Amino acid sequence: MDKLREIIKYLEGRQARFADAREHLFRQREIYTEDTRVEQITEQDISGVGIKVLYNNGWGYASTSAMDMDSLRAAADKALSLAKYADKSAVEPVVLAAEPRHTGRFATNIKENPFEVKISDAVGALLEAGEISLKGKDIIKANGYLVLRNMRKKYANTEGSAIETDIYTILPEIQATARANGEVKSRHYWASPETAGYEFFRGIDFKTNAARIAEQAREHCFARACESGPTTLILDPEHLSLTIHESVGHPTELDRVLGYEESCAGRSFATMDKLGKFKYGSELVNLVADNTLEGGLASCGYDDEGVECQKWHIVKDGILNGYGVNRELAHKMNMSRANGTTRATLYSDVPITRMPNLYLAPGKKPLTKEQLIADTESGIYIEGMGSFSIDQMRLNMQFGGDAFWEIKNGKITGMLKDVVYNALSYEFWRSCDAIADESEFRRAGFITCGKGDPMQAAQMTHGASPARFRNITVRRAK
Ligand SMILES: [Zn+2]
Repeated sequence: MDKLREIIKYLEGRQARFADAREHLFRQREIYTEDTRVEQITEQDISGVGIKVLYNNGWGYASTSAMDMDSLRAAADKALSLAKYADKSAVEPVVLAAEPRHTGRFATNIKENPFEVKISDAVGALLEAGEISLKGKDIIKANGYLVLRNMRKKYANTEGSAIETDIYTILPEIQATARANGEVKSRHYWASPETAGYEFFRGIDFKTNAARIAEQAREHCFARACESGPTTLILDPEHLSLTIHESVGHPTELDRVLGYEESCAGRSFATMDKLGKFKYGSELVNLVADNTLEGGLASCGYDDEGVECQKWHIVKDGILNGYGVNRELAHKMNMSRANGTTRATLYSDVPITRMPNLYLAPGKKPLTKEQLIADTESGIYIEGMGSFSIDQMRLNMQFGGDAFWEIKNGKITGMLKDVVYNALSYEFWRSCDAIADESEFRRAGFITCGKGDPMQAAQMTHGASPARFRNITVRRAK
């Protein structure tokens, strides 16, 4: 921290209006298994310092992987000189929302450090799962995947904040592939990724799930093709995590709403004139951003602008209620404070507005998944994530899934295949007429959400209880 403070002082002496420096150690281990062997193990250690400077009304950013003071001063000089150039072409004054001075530390609550456990332990669990899946009839392939990630940051700025964070992330996944009846189908089990210690991985029931996905992969090969046309969908929490991410998370990042960032289908229909009045979903739909969520992938204590993590509604009782807002754009929303969702994954990344942990709040009335299905005359229950696409305004969307089950007269009658559905994002959320209660709430999340140019990959948690959507157009994918 002393080096960062010295750099901040150095920049203050050169008339920086605001500056921050972020030392960032990113460590990641990825284990891939295939059938009964290890396919690949990779280890990354990426460390360095990123320095951001505001000079008058121009921003500059520079980074270095060298940690000595000469290199840090050189990076600070570069960021400052870029800021001076940017200032010459600045089109409007930069108004930076105030944030209290923070001197805290935030760390994932872990019992067992994932990087101190022998690699053979995780490899053993994934290979055992593979062996179980391969015993299933007609199974031709079993894959395992595990990501262990640690992000350690030190942050200092010209406002006197000095913050340390230490975040551990675990993402496990297994997959079984069957070939039968002229089809090849895969089924996944994806324990929701968490910020957690290795004890989280130890608690995952790979054995039961490896046998289940093998059986369901085969069943999928014999499934009946779905009928095209409007139908009722019940979507499981893992599936909904992707729809939430694409149709609510990205279009409510304010930098995209205002056109500051438009890569990767990065524009938005959810413009500011709609705030507080636009019907984003039915009145049952509450979409909550919460970077204080215990175990959430975006729960980091303080973001990379030195702003404390917060909780707010993106959609409240069906109405567009908020955005992810950084310090520079908060004044455009008449907000006195940003909401703590500006992050960078690597030291070289310029911190940008990133999706918070974002979940669909459970229904308030008691309702289990079984009751929801029993209450549905005819429809399709979709589990897991599959292919998806969405246009650059985040309006027209199409989603597949990992497994599809036919519902007839309130009962699951068998598996379907080749299911995709199309909808306009807000019409989809407006068609939600039931959400299961809190007892059915499950999480899922991502560690590879792409945004920016050059692209940065960030992590965040989603979640939901199973929910029902009426009159959605399903098409046969073949
Ligand atoms: Zn994304």
